[in-house]
Amino acid sequence: MENPLDGLVLPGGESTVQGKPLSDLGILEPLREKIQQDLPVLATCDGLILLAENVKNQEKRYLATLPVTVKRNAYGRQLGSFTTAFDFADLGQVPATFIRAPCISEVEDEVEILSKHQGKIIAARYRNQIELSFHPEVDKSDSIHSYFLKICQTK
Ligand code: GLN
Repeated sequence: MENPLDGLVLPGGESTVQGKPLSDLGILEPLREKIQQDLPVLATCDGLILLAENVKNQEKRYLATLPVTVKRNAYGRQLGSFTTAFDFADLGQVPATFIRAPCISEVEDEVEILSKHQGKIIAARYRNQIELSFHPEVDKSDSIHSYFLKICQTK
């Protein structure tokens, strides 16, 4: 990784699909190192699975830089996808769309919980890693992306 990175977005998708090339192309290790050196990361949905140290319903681990346990597909199948809104950190209400989303089921003490929905942790922050169960990019608000950009600019 020769070019300096200001930040990294790990988007939604399918963690098995995104994880395989990261692994096969030898990208996991250099990325893990950058994140451990505090590269800002915004991880949404599948990205949260790639970052998690533990995944409840699968053995495979990827970056494992985030001391949480996640549960894949915590809201059921694709047809169970939904959009809602809730308070996020100090940003007030943000819209959020969940698509076969994971949730965070356990966090270590140093992880800050940013939002919960229906009793499940759906947004958290650990150092410069922001992790979301949902997709902030499919709704009209850009407040979460602005929040992330501020973290990148202060690094
Ligand atoms: N269900 C996917 C997985 O477990 C994540 C879905 C998403 O990113 N929208 O990898």
